[in-house]
Amino acid sequence: MEFEVVAEAFEELEAVSARTQMTMVLVELFKKTPPELVDKVVYLLMGKLWPDWKGLPELGVGEKLLIKAVSLAVHRSEREVEDLYKKLGDLGLAAERLKSMQAQRTSLLAFMGGGGEEKLTLEKVYETLSRVAMATGEGSRDLKLKLLAGLIADATPREAKYIVRFVEGRLRLGVGDATIMDALAAVYAGSAGFRPLVERAYNLRADLGEIARILASRGIEELKGIKPEVGVPIRPMLAERLNNPVEILKKVGGHAIVEYKYDGERGQIHKKGDTVIIFSRRLENITHMYPDVQEYARSRIKAEEAIVEGEIVAVNPETGELRPFQELMHRRRKHDIHVAMKEYPVHVRLFDILYVDGEDYTVKPLPERRRRLSEIVDESDEFRLAEHIETEDPDELEKFFLQAISEGAEGVVVKATHSQAVYQAGSRGWLWIKYKRDYKSEMIDTVDLVVVGAFYGRGRRGGTYGALIMAAYDPDADMFRTVCKVGSGFTDEDLAKLPEMFKDLVVPHKHPRVDSKMQADVWFVPSKVAEIIGAEITLSPLHTCCTDSVKPGAGLSIRFPRFIQWRPDKAPEDATTAHELLEMYRRQLRKIEEKPA
Ligand code: ATP
Repeated sequence: MEFEVVAEAFEELEAVSARTQMTMVLVELFKKTPPELVDKVVYLLMGKLWPDWKGLPELGVGEKLLIKAVSLAVHRSEREVEDLYKKLGDLGLAAERLKSMQAQRTSLLAFMGGGGEEKLTLEKVYETLSRVAMATGEGSRDLKLKLLAGLIADATPREAKYIVRFVEGRLRLGVGDATIMDALAAVYAGSAGFRPLVERAYNLRADLGEIARILASRGIEELKGIKPEVGVPIRPMLAERLNNPVEILKKVGGHAIVEYKYDGERGQIHKKGDTVIIFSRRLENITHMYPDVQEYARSRIKAEEAIVEGEIVAVNPETGELRPFQELMHRRRKHDIHVAMKEYPVHVRLFDILYVDGEDYTVKPLPERRRRLSEIVDESDEFRLAEHIETEDPDELEKFFLQAISEGAEGVVVKATHSQAVYQAGSRGWLWIKYKRDYKSEMIDTVDLVVVGAFYGRGRRGGTYGALIMAAYDPDADMFRTVCKVGSGFTDEDLAKLPEMFKDLVVPHKHPRVDSKMQADVWFVPSKVAEIIGAEITLSPLHTCCTDSVKPGAGLSIRFPRFIQWRPDKAPEDATTAHELLEMYRRQLRKIEEKPA
């Protein structure tokens, strides 16, 4: 296929602005494209050589190098190229202009007895640009220069314009995926009315070039039966948002599976034998950031081939407490990932299964998907299904929601369970509804709380306590009412000292002055006071401080609490009172300003 055909279409696309006109240009272009090349045309239209998620190198050509390539190709000095570029404000246009000046000279020569020229093909352009991208390491700059200069030298002025713009990443034809799909459906299925089928296939395999090639070479029937493929990302299903439990349950049809909405990074985990690939919500390949998740998936997914989804969350490894989303950012640095992995461990909370051993699960209702997920996952602390309940009761939903927040989640996702509740790849719909708070109580000051109990530690904290139960003082009843469980902020030294420090305070059962719904491993006489800070004061059904004061069944709690220091100068009765905490909660309450999704 002559590249000139593509360049011509690019020029026409630039000249029109209405979507229908664009579709018409694309239809003509696809009609002239052999089926086996349609993927390459689609990628070029998108300004790419391949889908981003493949993780293949980008062109890696800076402006300086490109100017040099143009200058070599048209036998002008770099200075001349640069001057014209400055004047026109577009290096593509400058290349086109210089090429046509050169063409006039050579055609004169050709007229006087020179040889004919060979036309550039799409294959040649695509292959050369791929080689430019793939050239890495020593000597790659020279190789890129040589390849590009050669390509531009062989191009017509118009072709040169688009090659240069493509390399610069400034093609900007204005065609979106939807327009490309309309044209594909019209040409290869006979009508743009087949667009939803093309779109469904694209949602299941986020590679529009590949979908185009299957459609062009094997027809629409083939696309109808398309299944997910391990290694090719599926476009994620997204949730709508509502803030009223009654309405939410009505919207999903009465009965729901309600899961914690973990505040981490979505991971779409693809497994085939021992190979694991992880894609982000935006379909980037993020495998390199999570060697630990790869290992969990490899050892805990009991299927040869599977695609599952879950949230990757930062945790405190010794207590299993959730950490804020920001902690995951440390994983973004590519080097020393193994250090980051130790310092910022993550867990995975799985919430869906999309494919397993040849079977497409996106078409199955949620309860069946969840059942299958639990069958193929050998759960552990690190890698297990999202915390969930099944309910039809708005009060129960509300309680679970408060619990989720106090435990560090963002809220809950309420999911429909009826027979039509399939996995809607690539769309935001009412089958999933996220319920987050619209109020937040930010914690500005520290509080002083009393230790009333403890949990044994795990891992590095074996032999000492992993977390302490903290309480506020209620002077009216002379009771200590629980607020949170704290396991963060302690140094290794602090931790090692805990058993000795509390040795004489251990009692065989909950102390009579302690009000707790939690069942501790060890109970103490309320005595030691610690200064604690957290992200915010929240409501929780798990804690007893100020129960029912704000909401029935809920007490006050501290989200993401951290130990700051011991306050040996304070007696337990000097601790922050329940009343003070309630005041803090009320004072700090503010509307969360957020764009609705
Ligand atoms: P947000 O900014 O609220 O995360 P979003 O636009 O990224 O919104 P939404 O569809 O609004 O995505 O919310 C769903 C997101 O919540 C998912 O992309 C996923 O990362 C995360 N999540 C956490 N826990 C769950 C869960 N149990 N089920 C589904 N998604 C979950």
